[in-house]
Amino acid sequence: MQAPAARLEILAPLSGVLIPLESVPDPVFAQKMVGDGISLDPTSGELLAPVSGVVTQLHQAHHALTITTAEGIEVLVHIGIDTVLLKGEGFKPAVKQGDRITAGQLLISFDVDLVARKARSLLTQVLIANVEKVMRFVPANGLVEAGKSVALTIELAAETSTTTQTGTHAALTGEAVSLPNPSGLHARPAAVLAAEAKKYKSDLRLVRGSDEANAKSVVAIMGLATREGDAVAIRATGPDAAEAIRSLSALLASGCGEAAGEAPGEETTEPAPVRAKPASANELAGVSASPGLAVGKIVQYRQQIIAVSERGESASVERLKLDAALHEARNQIETLKGRLSDPAKAQILVAHQELLEDPDLVDLAIEGIGDGKSAGFAWREAFTRYATRLEGLDNALLRERANDIRDVGRRVLALLAGVEQAQIDVPAGSILIAEELTPSDTASFDRSKVLGFCTTGGGATSHVAILARSLGIPAICGIDEAALTLTEGSLVVLDGSKGLLLKKPSETEIAEAQARVARQATKRAEEMAAASEAAITTDGHHIEVVANVRNAADTQEGVTHGAEGVGLLRSEFLFDDRDTAPSEEEQAAAYKAVAQALGHDRPLVIRTLDVGGDKPLPYLPLPREDNPFLGLRGIRVSLEYPEIFRTQLRAILQAAPLARLHIMFPMVATLDELRAAKAILAEEVQASGHPSAKVGVMIEVPSAAVMAEVFAPEVDFFSIGTNDLTQYTLAMDRGHPKLAKQADGLHPSVLRMISLTVEGAHKHGKWVGVCGGLASDAMAVPVLVGLGVDELSVSVPAIPAIKALVKRLSHAECTQMANEILHLGTAAEVRSRLAAYAD
Ligand code: PEP
Ligand code: MG
Repeated sequence: MQAPAARLEILAPLSGVLIPLESVPDPVFAQKMVGDGISLDPTSGELLAPVSGVVTQLHQAHHALTITTAEGIEVLVHIGIDTVLLKGEGFKPAVKQGDRITAGQLLISFDVDLVARKARSLLTQVLIANVEKVMRFVPANGLVEAGKSVALTIELAAETSTTTQTGTHAALTGEAVSLPNPSGLHARPAAVLAAEAKKYKSDLRLVRGSDEANAKSVVAIMGLATREGDAVAIRATGPDAAEAIRSLSALLASGCGEAAGEAPGEETTEPAPVRAKPASANELAGVSASPGLAVGKIVQYRQQIIAVSERGESASVERLKLDAALHEARNQIETLKGRLSDPAKAQILVAHQELLEDPDLVDLAIEGIGDGKSAGFAWREAFTRYATRLEGLDNALLRERANDIRDVGRRVLALLAGVEQAQIDVPAGSILIAEELTPSDTASFDRSKVLGFCTTGGGATSHVAILARSLGIPAICGIDEAALTLTEGSLVVLDGSKGLLLKKPSETEIAEAQARVARQATKRAEEMAAASEAAITTDGHHIEVVANVRNAADTQEGVTHGAEGVGLLRSEFLFDDRDTAPSEEEQAAAYKAVAQALGHDRPLVIRTLDVGGDKPLPYLPLPREDNPFLGLRGIRVSLEYPEIFRTQLRAILQAAPLARLHIMFPMVATLDELRAAKAILAEEVQASGHPSAKVGVMIEVPSAAVMAEVFAPEVDFFSIGTNDLTQYTLAMDRGHPKLAKQADGLHPSVLRMISLTVEGAHKHGKWVGVCGGLASDAMAVPVLVGLGVDELSVSVPAIPAIKALVKRLSHAECTQMANEILHLGTAAEVRSRLAAYAD
């Protein structure tokens, strides 16, 4: 007979209501990635020891600790969700690491109100980190009293027993599908498949013959190195197996976002990478990665070595470190994405965020941690193993993705090692030479200093090359390794178009190259020289060209680039990246600085806070939403939090005496929202004694566009946010890996929305601007002018070129063309009609 298993009772550390771990709105806990146990919705603020033992870990943010019992069970208590971000604010520990404690003893006191306001949730998790030591979990339920009620009972595994998880579900396998993707499942289709797979609870495998990969893991899918025509199937084990097989098989058959025969996005739309042939010993050859010419001085760039120790603290401590680093890396990439104006290119960084959640990659690191390695060491082993595996594949596209894994890997590693990843800081006029650059390096280049770069690794299909093309930086990949020995500071000529680097150019060669660079620059300079002139069409229509800015510095730059005003001040930048909302005075100082940089006579349009849903603020406890794009966003957030709104309005009104002030409400969908916002503004105007401002709404939602004629009498102006208007008109998320390419602002449906808006506004004598990305797109400008738009609010660097373009247009011809275009059927037809206007 077998002896009964030893049991351990774990007390509720707080009073409150128990809830199953699976219901916690954070996959890290709900999917038991940290450990198994129970969650508790607390009503008390004093965390009592759930068991007796030793405090083996107290997190430096004091929101979590681990107690190791005499049986070696690691009980981790984590107060709230995302409370690490509070960095200790509101938490007071009563114990320190190493203390021996008894069950029921006070461990941490915390300010329930403050944590509830500032953190995502107060739900507190009681977890067993070393689940392998537990045979059975018996969670309690209902109300519990801190230090008295049992929250969880565990039956300990016998020392020798191995816990194998045998599911009760049989494995099902779907029909084989022949892959239509010309390059197999490379990064983006793999990301689409993995994202879909993650919606299901079942274990899902992508099977090809005797090979298989975790279908929820992008790296594992890429590791299969599939090719066009490969017969693959989905094998599923779990509660929703049949549904998962149906959905994923259909997705595979449809090409996972790539139409059959379609080239895989930017990765192959460029001419096939041909290795250049050096014409003389003075030339080093590589592959053209980004066109353009540059004459500059060599800067040899080498990657920092990040050291980590092999052994770690306890597994639970290392696990917490890894989670925190993955979380922070995600935030860093989010910030970097904001620097890229082109949402399609930002997709590359979205794929990087996806890698941070890749189950195979993260599991491999966790396995290493389980073997006693430090989080840094285990993580480095994991991402290096995957990158090496991809590098060994017989598929250029997949080999290139190894660099993406190393990039993400190094970002997390640097966070774990506590080292700042050095920014590439070089003198002006530099040409960088490196073995490898990462997409993050490239996205953070200072374009005014880096004229071009060469890498010995990578190719034209690497994400680094795609980003270089997007930033307009000439680049060569796969260059001869001799480039790594070129003398620092020596002058070279980089011909990105030909893939050649001239090592020791003669004076004539330098002069010729410089003349060509100069010719290209002349056009830009001419546009810049004429930037202060009004943008008047050949038949006398003035189109006001103004700037999209975030602060006074942008505004100053806008004015020097010829901005006739500010058409969109994105005020949310003042609210980002901080722990508390900015005060009225702080905001007023920022708005006044913008007004002063602009001068009293130019119009200044300040958009009120546009956050929510997809753009959360740490100090604004917005509920988690299934459809954030259709939830609390834009003006809805301001109406939900009137104090934040009123503070902002009071601050904006302080700038009224200094500017031709316009206040604009974002994401307005209904007249009720507009009227409610205007009523609050009217009260604040009256209370402030400041002069009022013109009031407008952004047209970003189809309901507002089709009702423009009804909205118009109640506003002074409209400004069309084509970025959001496009995604809401086409019902296509502009950040969606599969749909982003089709979410085109030049789709005739979006143009019809713009047309309706202009008609409605002009009927009531109100003006219409466009402040979305379409206004900065040379190809779109003739049709916007033709539709009757009065103002274009564009990114600062684009102002001179857009003004020069408007001056070449005839308003009458644009009107006629716009009328024809409105009757076209697809965005491609519109683009082909407008091709002549592209830069
Ligand atoms: C838009 O949606 O076009 C716009 C200008 O607003 P956002 O800040 O959301 O891009
Ligand atoms: Mg918008």
